[in-house]
Amino acid sequence: MPRDRPLLEFGPVPTLPPPSYAAAHDDEEEKDAPPRRWFHYFPTCFTVLFILAPHPSWMIVLTKYHLGILHDRQSFAQHVFVTYTLTALALASLFTIIVTDPGRPPANRGRNDDNEELDFTQALLADDLDISSPGKWCRKCWAPKPERTHHCSHCGRCVFKMDHHCMWLGYKCLGHRTYTSFLHFLLCVTLLAVYIACVCVTAVYYAFTNPLTIDEHTPLHEMSLSLGGIILTMVIGPFLIYHIYLTSTNQTTLENLSPFLLLRQLPPLPPQHQSERHRLSDPPLEHELSFNQRRLVRDAHGYVRLYDIGWRKNWSQVLGYEGPFGWVHRVLVGGGGTGDGMTFPRNPQADELLVRLAAELVDADKIS
Ligand SMILES: [Zn+2]
Ligand SMILES: [Zn+2]
Repeated sequence: MPRDRPLLEFGPVPTLPPPSYAAAHDDEEEKDAPPRRWFHYFPTCFTVLFILAPHPSWMIVLTKYHLGILHDRQSFAQHVFVTYTLTALALASLFTIIVTDPGRPPANRGRNDDNEELDFTQALLADDLDISSPGKWCRKCWAPKPERTHHCSHCGRCVFKMDHHCMWLGYKCLGHRTYTSFLHFLLCVTLLAVYIACVCVTAVYYAFTNPLTIDEHTPLHEMSLSLGGIILTMVIGPFLIYHIYLTSTNQTTLENLSPFLLLRQLPPLPPQHQSERHRLSDPPLEHELSFNQRRLVRDAHGYVRLYDIGWRKNWSQVLGYEGPFGWVHRVLVGGGGTGDGMTFPRNPQADELLVRLAAELVDADKIS
C-alpha cells in the first residue's frame, strides 16, 4: 500500500488520523464522490432549453412586427445580431464551464502512481504547510488543502478557490478556473433577457395602440417574451449584481456566506486565563464560541476583507487579465483567474484587523 508509506515517516503529527483511517478512506472516497447519474444533467439541459426556447417566438416577433408591419430591416438585423451574439456567448460560457476543470490540488488523485506519490510527499514537506491547523488538510481527499480551497461533497474532491457547486451549469463546482466563465454567462443571459424584454414591451405597446394593424397571435408572443424577459432579469439580475459585488471585494460565495471561516485565519490568540468559562483552542473552533464571541466574528466578517486589494486589482485577478483593456480580451476569448489557484495576495489591513479580533475574542467573556 504505497500511499501509507510517506505518512508514517512523519512521526507524531497529532491531528493526522492513523494509517487505518487512511486505508478506510480508500473505500469511503468512492462514497464521497457519488457517480453522476443521468438525472444530474437535467438542470443543465433545462438551462440550455431555457436559453433556446424563446427563439421561435422571438423570430415570429421580428418577422411579423419589425419586417411585416414596420418594414424596418435595420432594426431587424440589429436585433438578430445582438440576440444571437449574446445567445452564442452564453452557450460558449456554459460549454467552457462544463468542459473545464475548476482546479484541484495536484496531490489528491492518482495516489498509486509513483509521480503523484512524489508530489504528495513534497506537498507534505512544504515549508508553509501547517497541517495541524484546521482547514489546511482535507481528510476526504487525504491531501493538503491550499488557501481558499474547499472540499465539495457533491463532486467528492477539493476545488481551488471554490465559489459554489452549481447543478444548473454542468452539475459541478465553480472555482478558480471557471468563475470567469460563470460571470460571463450571467452577464450574457441578463443582457439577453433585458434586451428582449425592452424590444417586446415596445412591440406590445404598439399592438395595444394599433390593434388593427397586427394579427391576433403576434401580441401573445410579444407579451410572453416581455413577461419572461422581465422575470429572468429580476431573477438573474440580482444574482449578477451579487457576484459583481463579490468580485469587486475579492470574495467567493462561500467566504461571503460563512463568517466562521475567518477563525482559520486568526493569528495566535493572546494568553487566556485558566478560569475562563469559554476557553478557546488556537485557532478557535466554531462550536467553542460563546454568544458574544460569535457576534464578534459575525461583525468582523462584515469588514475584514482578507483578499481585497482594491477593486481594480480584484477584477484583474479574478478575471485574469492585465492592463486597462485586458478585460476586452477576456470577453472575446475567455480565460480563468491569474495565479496558481493556491496562493493569493492578501489585504495588509486585514491582518491588523484579525489581530484585533483575536484579542477581542479572548476578552469577550471577561466582559460578559
Ligand atoms: Zn477534499
Ligand atoms: Zn462540486
